[in-house]
Amino acid sequence: MGVGVDVHPFVSGRDLHLAGLYWPGEIGLAGHSDGDAAAHAACDALLSAAGLGDLGGLFGTDDPRWAGASGVTLLEEAARQVRSAGFEIGNVALQVIGNRPKLAPRRTEAEKALSAALGAPVSVSATTTDGLGLTGRGEGVAAIATALVLL
Ligand code: MG
Repeated sequence: MGVGVDVHPFVSGRDLHLAGLYWPGEIGLAGHSDGDAAAHAACDALLSAAGLGDLGGLFGTDDPRWAGASGVTLLEEAARQVRSAGFEIGNVALQVIGNRPKLAPRRTEAEKALSAALGAPVSVSATTTDGLGLTGRGEGVAAIATALVLL
């Protein structure tokens, strides 16, 4: 079992990519990559489960190869490394925390996109924090994920 958390702040002038999807008309998230906090949390959960460290170690912000990389690309690469280390991937459970975008209408679509990238089931859910904290104030999006890998 592994766990991962990620947070990215909203920033104007950037497209929003979240949970493996492009969200037209929404404010984007800042980051060295595309800022997809949900995909990043999923990556960290996988790496955690396999004992391979974390996203920062695998895709360092000083490595130009990953500048602007999509969350889906990072998830594919994390999955490849987990499998290279001898693990099968069981599943990933992902929860997105924030006021926007409204995930419910595209939840199934996000599950399909992320599951395709992972080659294993990814479940996606969403919640808010009732106005509290950085996500409640609308400053950004947070995500938490767990992953199960099998030897
Ligand atoms: Mg991140």
